[in-house]
Amino acid sequence: MCALALARQGVRVVVCEAEPSLTHDLRAGTFHPPTQEMMAPYGITQRMHERGLQVRRWQIRSRRGGMVAEFDLGVLADETPYPYRLHLEQHRLTPIQLDVLRDEPSAEVHFGHRITGFEQKGASVLVQFESEGIPGKLEASWLVGADGGRSTIRKLLAVEFEGFTWPEQFLVVSTPYDFAQHGFTLNTYIADPVEWAAVFKMPDAGPPGLWRLAFPCDPGLPDDALLDPAAVQNRMQGFLSQTTPYEVRYQSIYRVHQRVARTYRKDRVFLAGDAAHLNNPLGGMGLNGGLHDVLSLVPRLAGVWHGRRAEAELDGYERQRRPEAVHAINAITERNKKLMEERDPAVRQRNLERMAAIAADAKLAYEYMLEASMITSLRRCGMLP
Ligand SMILES: Cc1cc2nc3c(=O)[nH]c(=O)nc-3n(C[C@H](O)[C@H](O)[C@H](O)COP(=O)(O)OP(=O)(O)OC[C@H]3O[C@@H](n4cnc5c(N)ncnc54)[C@H](O)[C@@H]3O)c2cc1C
Repeated sequence: MCALALARQGVRVVVCEAEPSLTHDLRAGTFHPPTQEMMAPYGITQRMHERGLQVRRWQIRSRRGGMVAEFDLGVLADETPYPYRLHLEQHRLTPIQLDVLRDEPSAEVHFGHRITGFEQKGASVLVQFESEGIPGKLEASWLVGADGGRSTIRKLLAVEFEGFTWPEQFLVVSTPYDFAQHGFTLNTYIADPVEWAAVFKMPDAGPPGLWRLAFPCDPGLPDDALLDPAAVQNRMQGFLSQTTPYEVRYQSIYRVHQRVARTYRKDRVFLAGDAAHLNNPLGGMGLNGGLHDVLSLVPRLAGVWHGRRAEAELDGYERQRRPEAVHAINAITERNKKLMEERDPAVRQRNLERMAAIAADAKLAYEYMLEASMITSLRRCGMLP
């Protein structure tokens, strides 16, 4: 997205991707209204709608007490042309982006090119990469490290990744079993002190789609015990018991962090996306926030590239985006996780009652949905009117 936005502004850009092709792992899948708006001018949003599921309503439930709150994003129709979350697997978005990017004459994409180092020298960055075991170099004016949570570029910059890692891993399971028949909306959060869950329906290759469930895992168990098919089946049966076994299409576990890089820029090198911030997926803000980052960085970088802006204005990128990573993306996702997993029965009861009260009050619900859709954060940092 960063490369595409730069290329559209007439900036020459080279993408180095370590993997031999686009990756297909199960990752983000929720696109909030402003993210859809921001990608629309590139023709991406329209193509996402060909497959994506429009999710207007989402619920908070309590595993032990049933329905707590339901929110309807349709009421935001005066705020956004996309008053819903769009569910689409990240691995179905990236081919669309790559396809659009390939049409840009000023962009080059190189798969199988792993960045191994760089050196900042005067007005350029000398970037070292490795392709099929052969080292290579390229000279650039600027380098954007959008190389994920384990970012080599962030490590080479020696930028601290402040925050913490949650002790438990998350188990993600996908099944075609239709949870809508039990009244679940296509996005549902289920609170429980031991076995909370986040449920998302994904379009998959087409109907009936796949339901994706994320659960916390016992930190004391090794990975193979967590991924054992019988253990996964037990987990699913424990969630909602069925007379027949669940058909499980995918299962994986992953570690979750709440971290923000201490700085987003060191001279001619920037960090964006997961390289700059990591959060838990409750609220679907990681990839959305990363896309917002680059659409903050690109106009500044393109302005400097074309000589229309002073280099000092590049500092505005960190000023605009880092506080939102700390006070919105991190704070909201952490709060969402705590709401799901609260162990103290009195606090849990109070929290869930508060959510029910918010959902029942049209004004409070409206404000809550603006915040959950990232509109509040984007307005606060000046990226949305
Ligand atoms: C299970 C799961 C569910 C999630 N759900 C959501 C959700 O619902 N909503 C949401 O918004 N977010 C979600 N996220 C987070 C989301 O997937 C990430 O925020 C997103 O992938 C970050 O994009 P990125 O481009 O910054 O990093 P990545 O997607 O990690 O991409 C980084 C790329 O850089 C490449 N790379 C790494 N090192 C190098 C190198 N040295 N040289 C060249 N290339 C390199 C990698 O191969 C990779 O392709 C989820 C994440 C997980 C794991």
